[in-house]
This record gives sequence, C-alpha cells and structure tokens, in this order.
Amino acid sequence: NKTAIKQFTNGMTLWVLGAHNKTNLQRRSIRWLIGDECWRWPTGHMAEAEARVTAFGWLGKCLFMSQGGHADDDMTKRHLMTDQREWTFACPECQARQPYQWEQIKWSADARTEQGWDYAAVRASTVMLCASCQAEFPDDDRTRKRLNQAGCYVRQNPTASPENVGFHWNALCAMSWGRLAELYLRAKQSAKLGDIEPLKIFYQKRLGQPWAEAYEDYSVDLTQSDYRLGEDWEKEAALDKSGHVLPAPYEASMASAKLRIITVDCQMDHVFVVARSWAADGSSRLLWHEKLISFDDVSNLAQRLEVHPSLVFVDAGYATYDVYRGCAARRWTALMGDARTTYQHRLPNG
Ligand SMILES: [Zn+2]
Repeated sequence: NKTAIKQFTNGMTLWVLGAHNKTNLQRRSIRWLIGDECWRWPTGHMAEAEARVTAFGWLGKCLFMSQGGHADDDMTKRHLMTDQREWTFACPECQARQPYQWEQIKWSADARTEQGWDYAAVRASTVMLCASCQAEFPDDDRTRKRLNQAGCYVRQNPTASPENVGFHWNALCAMSWGRLAELYLRAKQSAKLGDIEPLKIFYQKRLGQPWAEAYEDYSVDLTQSDYRLGEDWEKEAALDKSGHVLPAPYEASMASAKLRIITVDCQMDHVFVVARSWAADGSSRLLWHEKLISFDDVSNLAQRLEVHPSLVFVDAGYATYDVYRGCAARRWTALMGDARTTYQHRLPNG
C-alpha cells in the first residue's frame, strides 16, 4: 500500500506526510503527532503541526526528534522550553554525575607532527577525563557500557512547564572517542582552509548541538615556532595605570599594558583579526593577522600576544547584539562605525 494514509481495523488512522508542505499540517485533528528530523522543517511548521493535537487536550501528544540544527531554529527553541534532560554518567572514581562533554575528551599533543595531526596517534591516545576528579577513562566499548549502565537523564531546566519533556544525548555515549577526535580535527583542518561544513556537521550530528556561527572553540594552533612576535620592537609604547601613553623606553613598573591593539572584523562565520604594536609617535608595526573562527580564538591570540582585553576592538556593525555580549564577557571594546569623517573630541579640561 503506497498511499500515505493507513486505516487500522481498530478505527485508527495513520497519516505519513511530509512536513515541508504546510497543507499537510493543516485541518487534521491528530492525537499522536510524531515529527522526525525537525531541524529540516521550515520555520513555523512545528507550531502548525502542534496545533493539530490541541483538540485532544491532555490526551494529545507530540514527539519531535532531531539532530542538532541551528541556534535559532524552531527545534532548538522548542528544546529550550523543555526540562532538557541530559544523558549523564557517574564517575566510578569520585561518583560525580556529569553529562558526556566534548571538552572532557583529550588526546596527546605529541600526536601533532610538523605536517599536521598523526590521526593514528590521535586515535590511540584519546581518553575521556572525569570533569570532577580528572580520572581517565580509556576509549573502548567496555568503558562506555560500564558508564552507561549507571547512566540516567538529568534535568538541566527544572523550572520548565511539566508537560514539556526533552531528552538530549550525544555520540560520546556510544561511539569511539578517538574516532570522534579524528573527525573533529579533520573538520577543524577544513574550517581553517575555508570549509566550515564538516565542523558544522560534527556539532550537529555527533554532538547533537545546534550550530551557531563563530561558536566553536577553534583554538589557534600557534606553535612556538610560528610565533612571529619574537623580538620586541624597541619603539613600542605602553599605557600607564591611568591610560596615558608611555613612550619607549619606559619604566616597566609604570606600565600596565603594552600599546598593542587587536581589531576584529566580524564576518558571518569567521572573523579577521589584525594585531598591531604602536609607538608614541603614531607609527606602528604589524604583529599578527589571521582569519579565525570564534571569539575564543581571539581571546587565545590576545593572551599570546599580551594584548590587554580593553585594547581588543571588535566591529559591532554585524550581529551587534552578539558582539556586545561577547565583548562584555571578555572586557573587550565594541566599535560602532558611523558616517561622519571627522568629529570633535573634548578633553577633560574643556
Ligand atoms: Zn571523578
């Protein structure tokens, strides 16, 4: 029977319909609604489908399933309204109950060679650490089985309305961590070359997380050898505690920050970063420039280059709200462009 409608002898009707076609989601009264891959549904279609069960009151039930979608899609918003139960395990060493977190997956830094990652060495060295006592769990199915046997879902949002129940888990409870580490590192490599799709898929499909642009903890792979700062510039100025410029050479104890400035230009899914070193006479030197993926990358870079947080300037013209929030969290300065070519600057003494 190839039709999308099935009549059962007990009187039940089963419709199997596509969610893209809005008319499929209208007019019918449905008692049990099951929606799959909801991250692909067009905006508004989940609400449209949900409205079909209202005629059944408390007897109506909706079950929506999905991998991770996007940070602002209907599926993500819907999940945020639930009690957000997360699959957890208890550490056999310290008993701390915790979700499976990607941040707890570690591999040996020695797996990195001049040519890039040695994936066999990555796979062989990957472990998971307890978030509480740092106990090390080997990457094998027996370990995962043992952890899952004492697993349970823990509500992350206990104030949710009780009829909204949500469950979330990721690949860490079921798949080789070494294999995931390889997927992740390969995806990061692609992102560096300009293709963020594999990284996005890693987050959505493997970690089951909604993708947000510039969300990744894309740590800058700055090794000591390609750190070009090396020799200090003898003309570089500094700022004293009250923000006045100290020309070089200055007394180190007087300086509270080197006069190094990072400017960040935000694009849709990456940022361009330029770091310059400034002298008191207004001349400057390029310290570093790079295309990065996230604000965390910029933080890492600022730390490495010893740039004071308030000397990190971020263009807030695009995704203004996110930029303000990101700047506030890191004590950076957000910049808003304006059409004027000149302006008057009033000094404190008038
Ligand atoms: Zn532990």
